Amino acid sequence: MPELPEVETVRQTLQPLLVDQIITDVQVRWPNIIVGDYVAWMKSMIEQRFVRIDRFGKYLLFVFENDVLICHLRMEGKFYYQTQSEEINKHVHVIFTLSNGMQLRYHDVRKFGTMELVSKSSLWKTKSLAKLGKEPFELEQKPDYLFQKCQQTKRMIKSVLLDQTILVGLGNIYVDEVLYRAKIHPEQAANTLSKNQTAVLVEAAIAVLNKAIALGGTTIRTYQSTLGVDGKFQNELQVHTKKGESCPRCGTIIEKIKVGGRGTYLCPNCQRME
Ligand SMILES: [Zn+2]
Repeated sequence: MPELPEVETVRQTLQPLLVDQIITDVQVRWPNIIVGDYVAWMKSMIEQRFVRIDRFGKYLLFVFENDVLICHLRMEGKFYYQTQSEEINKHVHVIFTLSNGMQLRYHDVRKFGTMELVSKSSLWKTKSLAKLGKEPFELEQKPDYLFQKCQQTKRMIKSVLLDQTILVGLGNIYVDEVLYRAKIHPEQAANTLSKNQTAVLVEAAIAVLNKAIALGGTTIRTYQSTLGVDGKFQNELQVHTKKGESCPRCGTIIEKIKVGGRGTYLCPNCQRME
């Protein structure tokens, strides 16, 4: 599943290809991808000009002059930038033809992705974005935010970090890496963490995400970003997927447990339950 760094890689890859292009034609082959009435949506997409591409958490925001297309790739969504003569793969569900003659094709094997067109003024009121928490990057200016959220719950810290209403854009891979860096056990009750520990977590989250973005994200299992760009962050993983290997810090064997139903990797020596 693409996480924040992979989505950021998609954003950076697509932006220079799309800015100033105007959508001249749209085809929808699987209407469930589109939020709302897809026929009306297709009409509204024609003549839209890409101004820029933003990202919030795992959402791609295609910004036009007055509207924004909110896109979530979910499990397997990808974009391809192709000529019209290239064969259309059966997993391509939405095709945008651009003013330069190229096509932006949305490919999604699992068909879980979504696209929703909203006006700029209603962007942050839409259901998908309104309930989201903060990006780890925003917390540099708000160091106590995570501490206050943790104080309010006895849930395990891993579940809190995965909770998109608290933090956006930290998925399973990155949460394992962040907790390892911060030396915190994933099952530690959130309200038992000190202010200092939550500050270390924020610092670790920013460091891990920045490094992953710099390396184009993580390519694990089937996920590749746009245009088949491979991420390189999987080579930097310290604990995630490393069950049975030695901890790079202390040499203890890395374990895999389940936390809230999610496969979780940790070093039982570096990350002790307090
Ligand atoms: Zn260790």
